[in-house]
Amino acid sequence: MVTRIYSHPIYLEHITPPGHPERPDRLRVIERVLDDEKFAALDRVQAPEGDPATILYAHPQSFVDKVHAAIPETGIQRVDADTTVSPKSWQAALTAIGAANAAVDDVFAGRASNVFVASRPPGHHAEKSTAMGFCLFNHAAIAARHAQKAHGAERVAIVDWDVHHGNGTQHIFWDDPSVLFCSTHQMPLYPGTGAKDETGVGNIVNAPLAPRTGSDLFRDAFRTRVLPAVENFAPDLVIVSAGFDAHHLDPLAEINLTEEDFDWATGQLMESADRHAAGRLVSLLEGGYDLHGLAFSVAAHVGRMMKG
Ligand SMILES: [Zn+2]
Repeated sequence: MVTRIYSHPIYLEHITPPGHPERPDRLRVIERVLDDEKFAALDRVQAPEGDPATILYAHPQSFVDKVHAAIPETGIQRVDADTTVSPKSWQAALTAIGAANAAVDDVFAGRASNVFVASRPPGHHAEKSTAMGFCLFNHAAIAARHAQKAHGAERVAIVDWDVHHGNGTQHIFWDDPSVLFCSTHQMPLYPGTGAKDETGVGNIVNAPLAPRTGSDLFRDAFRTRVLPAVENFAPDLVIVSAGFDAHHLDPLAEINLTEEDFDWATGQLMESADRHAAGRLVSLLEGGYDLHGLAFSVAAHVGRMMKG
């Protein structure tokens, strides 16, 4: 079986202000690095537009309406201190959701063994009724619910290795034992949540990392906190909130991972997915703001996914 990748030109049309780290060039460098011959076997598919009704899996209608109403006809509109929308942002966000849901459909239908979604805007900071941290809607949360509603998944594990805590995903599933949320992230750092003692109903596992943590301590945290939780949970699907801003080159944080760490972590989660979820793994792009660090890391991550 193949590794599938979803992308769409609309993702480049979610425009952020000049100098903003979450910018269209992020996807351009990913496309370029995956153009290499060694990725020739990737099954490249244009992302479908999402069904707006699926946004309601994670967000109330009043919030959906609020985001929709904020979309400007021209220029850029601010919705949070560092989150903005432009005229095509609605369609970009909806297509990010469409790709995440389609990726879930693919792994359950056996069209792909695993899928990477290269989309913008990211999603893991979006809480039920709050757009924040460059995120409008929480596509990982929506995809997890889609797996439950459309494919009868009983347990979905979301593993978030973005350097920032996935506060939105934690918020959405705080009291839901059918979804496991595990996060490694720098602490202290934006958004400030993600302490070890935030455990929900036993379904939240936070592994905060001190600034300047490198490969060894990251792998320790993954080995001792994240992987045992996933093993114990025995998910029907593994979703990765794949941010690559814990790379040592990233300007937004101070964790010193290399692309080899993302290769390793990917392999570990694939083994868990093989044991419990017939290999079903869906990876959604979150952060990653140094263009070289991002490109190298995505190449390592997707390269490992393709090894099956
Ligand atoms: Zn991040």
